[in-house]
Amino acid sequence: MAHLIDGKAAAAQIRHELAERVRAFTARTGRTPGLAAVLVGDHPASHVYVRSKRKACAEVGIQSWLHERPADVTEDELLALVAELNADPMVDGILVQLPLPKQVRENVIHAAIHPSKDVDGFGPETLGLLALGHPRFLPCTPHGIWRLLRREAIALEGRHVVILGRSNIVGKPLALIMLLRHPQANATVTVCHSQSSHWPSLTRQADVLVAAVGKPHLVKGDMVKPGAAVIDVGINRLPDGELVGDVDFDEVKEVAGFITPVPGGVGPMTIAMLLENTLHAAELRSLFGPG
Ligand code: NAP
Repeated sequence: MAHLIDGKAAAAQIRHELAERVRAFTARTGRTPGLAAVLVGDHPASHVYVRSKRKACAEVGIQSWLHERPADVTEDELLALVAELNADPMVDGILVQLPLPKQVRENVIHAAIHPSKDVDGFGPETLGLLALGHPRFLPCTPHGIWRLLRREAIALEGRHVVILGRSNIVGKPLALIMLLRHPQANATVTVCHSQSSHWPSLTRQADVLVAAVGKPHLVKGDMVKPGAAVIDVGINRLPDGELVGDVDFDEVKEVAGFITPVPGGVGPMTIAMLLENTLHAAELRSLFGPG
């Protein structure tokens, strides 16, 4: 029976430590770190995510501002807002909640966020620095996964990490983190996606298996190596309203050595890492000035 990795408890502890660091920052600089959240349209899940991110900010003493725009906002209008936030000395981090409406290109908006304020970690400079092995910010979800693995003392060096999913926000940056020349990374990495043939033969070799696909119960017990650490990133709503991951929890927990639940696994860590990145951005800006 797998050991349950409690992301909720880990995130609560990190928030507690961050609150201490925010107090020290505020005492030293005379200002609180600040996060500007941009929310477009009336997508209910996006409202829920932004609300919980702002609540978490308040809990650790980070100031936050909400900038709402209607679903028919133009790309130019959103770029103008980002430019304003880039120039605002009170704003340390900018979060543009996804998804954006069709007429706005996500990559254009991400590229417009000043790299020193890119606390979500989706911009080209942020990802480029990570790919080169000198990260400034780690994208929040992969960062949270890495932190959970390290907290559970799950060895990565020389081990085989298999990632299902190659998105720019989870799978791909996680692969780059696992490849970092770092004693708590240095993994051998395989990334699978919708065109990968026979990926269960690869997941069965994984010491650490990360599922970030968005398909309920995709990963079954017979696709997992006995004793492996299984990290479930997926968030899927079943027709009856139940929230489940990409991993068939009941089957896989009988085979794996470690497993994260959904909810209460990776999700809370994503938010904790957003707070940590925002504080890190504020600290860097206070040391080196804007830019
Ligand atoms: P995404 O952009 O839709 O990417 C999904 C990836 O899965 C793609 O690379 C896709 O391949 C691959 N895929 C699809 N079907 C597959 C299959 N049958 N076998 C193997 N690979 C397959 O999704 P995402 O944004 O990375 O999110 C993935 C899941 O994580 C979603 O459920 C999302 O809600 C959740 N999520 C959770 C958090 C959190 O904080 N817990 C954060 C972000 C996302 P192609 O590239 O070939 O299309």
